Amino acid sequence: MPDLVPLSINLDLTTACNYACDHCIDWDILNKPFKHEDQELWDSMREMAERGMRSVILIGGGEPTLYPKFKEFVAFLKELKLQVAVVSNGSRNDKILEIAPMLEKGDWVRLSLDSGSNDVFQRMHNPSKKNLTLDEICAWVPKIKKVNPHFDFGFSYVITWQGATRDDTRVVENIHEMVMASKRAREAGFNYISFKPFLERADTGSEVMDPAHMEGELAKVVARIQAQVAEAKQLEQPGFRVVESINLRMLIEGNWRDFTKQPQMCHMQALRQVLNPHGTYNCPAYRGVAYARIGEKDAYKDSATVRESSTITANLLDNFDASDNCKEVTCLYNGTNWWLEEVIEGDGDIDSLMASAERRDWFL
Ligand code: SF4
Repeated sequence: MPDLVPLSINLDLTTACNYACDHCIDWDILNKPFKHEDQELWDSMREMAERGMRSVILIGGGEPTLYPKFKEFVAFLKELKLQVAVVSNGSRNDKILEIAPMLEKGDWVRLSLDSGSNDVFQRMHNPSKKNLTLDEICAWVPKIKKVNPHFDFGFSYVITWQGATRDDTRVVENIHEMVMASKRAREAGFNYISFKPFLERADTGSEVMDPAHMEGELAKVVARIQAQVAEAKQLEQPGFRVVESINLRMLIEGNWRDFTKQPQMCHMQALRQVLNPHGTYNCPAYRGVAYARIGEKDAYKDSATVRESSTITANLLDNFDASDNCKEVTCLYNGTNWWLEEVIEGDGDIDSLMASAERRDWFL
């Protein structure tokens, strides 16, 4: 195995969060006494960028804008010429306003809002600032777009249904607010709203979509979702899109089980990994899971750790059996993994490996 770093990482800047969302997939790893050492994190980014990393998504297990040096860190990533994305809960849009001038076309910011009304927003997210409203969050969007209209600004919506739970917590249903949220997103000036289904953590530690827990007949719940998506799509206009995630499309089309059949070797784990204050992991679906661990949070801080992490990645490529470990995961990379498998076996279309100009998007 050569000394390689991933092309793209999901970077959890902090485990701290100022919400207590009922549907949070990372609940077990939040607000823990683990944090990045600033210098080590900066060194890791430089080392990785020099070795070919192209993009960083600042995301959670934790709210990224709570990282004390958020603005300085984004500035550093842009200095390294990396593509940058931020997934935030929207509670600190003053921090997004601060980084807005640094972002370029191809970078993006997405707010996880999941609701159309203030009431559902507050019941789903339980913000620590009790009077925080969706109105207040959305009012920041025009101010931010005014500073820089060139990056994509999204409203993210995890669809939840009756019967969905996180451990013993019942999740508030929000299917009925999908159209309301789309109207709100369009009026606020977001570039898109993206819908995706609620995920649960399976016994294997992986994140899975389990429609079996829908209360009421699966087909009826899916039909309600489909009707809301169709109505929301009517709101599309130049500069505003309604986006369905791959696994939502699978749920609607009823073929989601096809995407749970992975090849034995997951190739994506060499290309895209997760760096978290708890350590470094092979896939966003396995944050904090021991058998998916590549190393500590400093796994790429210098040549010696890169060597070690490359060896562990090679071991995971050989020994992490995705066909078994991920057999409940509707993996977004299922098609990519099978396509890479075919290319390696010599059956793939090698010409399609050539990237064309408009494909210079390094987020995986
Ligand atoms: S097969 Fe999919 S879910 Fe499993 S490790 Fe690979 S990318 Fe992650």
